[in-house]
Amino acid sequence: MVLLSGPNMGGNIWKYVKDCLDTGWVSSVGAYVDQFEKMTAEFAGTKYAVATSSGTTALHIALLLAGVDRNDYVITPNITFVATCNSIRYTGADPLLIDAEEFTWQMDLDLLEAFLINETEQKNGACYLKKNGRRIPVIMPVHVLGNICDMDRLIKLAQQHNLIVIEDSTEALGSYYKGKHAGSFGLMGTFSYNGNKIITTGGGGMIVTDDEQLAKKAKHLTTQAKSDSFEYIHDEIGYNYRLVNVAAAMGVAQMEQLPEFIERKKEIISYYKNELSGVGDISFQDVKPEVNPNWWMPTLKTNHQREILKALNDNKMQSRPFWVPMNQLRMFKDDLYYHTNDRSDYIYKHCLSIPCSTNITDDQLKGVVEKIKSAF
Ligand SMILES: *Cc1c(COP(=O)(O)O)cnc(C)c1O
Repeated sequence: MVLLSGPNMGGNIWKYVKDCLDTGWVSSVGAYVDQFEKMTAEFAGTKYAVATSSGTTALHIALLLAGVDRNDYVITPNITFVATCNSIRYTGADPLLIDAEEFTWQMDLDLLEAFLINETEQKNGACYLKKNGRRIPVIMPVHVLGNICDMDRLIKLAQQHNLIVIEDSTEALGSYYKGKHAGSFGLMGTFSYNGNKIITTGGGGMIVTDDEQLAKKAKHLTTQAKSDSFEYIHDEIGYNYRLVNVAAAMGVAQMEQLPEFIERKKEIISYYKNELSGVGDISFQDVKPEVNPNWWMPTLKTNHQREILKALNDNKMQSRPFWVPMNQLRMFKDDLYYHTNDRSDYIYKHCLSIPCSTNITDDQLKGVVEKIKSAF
């Protein structure tokens, strides 16, 4: 089986995990958690990083710390992985969905701007939806597939309309916009270390920020909000959203290899682009010149999505359609969705992701390309 995007367990991973097992430091405290946080902050160019149990829990805590409350809206793209919208719902808020841009598949900023101008109003320095008076405290862009939208424009729009930016940068570890790392633009950014991401800890996540108070609060909330080091005194409803030390040990080893992984992802996309551009009607995700993406997951657009999916999967080459757009899922179908001819649906029905594990062999890549060519 050629995996879509599987883990690459090389480097010091065995050594560091063994160290945890040998010393018994496997659980919620330990030196690897601190080291993993430090390495991540350094890599992402933020002052602080707080490890969490998953990317989803990182998003949940970031939204809570941004003050998102019951009955609020959070603006987010309609094309994303479900965890983005789930985390919004955990806070009692609802997602306010914006359609995707046609070629980059990121949130459509023209549409966002028109929405903000026409549909929202400012009261006492906060943004409200005109038609029902509900507050919109946060915008959560998602760096879909490790690509990034025009962040200068998004940040400017957010400032003009008093929106806090929280980045769902869970797919974008190693992606840059004008040389600045994904996750470092907003008040907070997030990463995920699920098994299919560019690095993995089995499961895990991270919140990054330049704000010391927010970092402290994130640590507090993710560790049951315990306010005394000796007694069991807790000063609010906290969460058990810690990353365990043995997972962080994997994370440290994975961070050591991240530059190689990014390089390999770039080799993979170059190979696919060289071999498949001009084959049938295949096109790839458009990337703006200011963006240097991690190319986490090569994804094609074609009218023959289902046939190619079948040809690859029948031959044990794992490939997947793009996510079902959020407005088509049962839980979000009644949420507000601003769109241009529902481009999300078009993208969903025409895109597929192809094998791209960093440890995929050149022969396996060749096999994928041959299968796609012969399907055409
Ligand atoms: C992976 C992912 C998440 C959630 O990460 P987990 O670590 O699996 O909880 C959230 N948003 C997007 C866009 C993702 O791809």
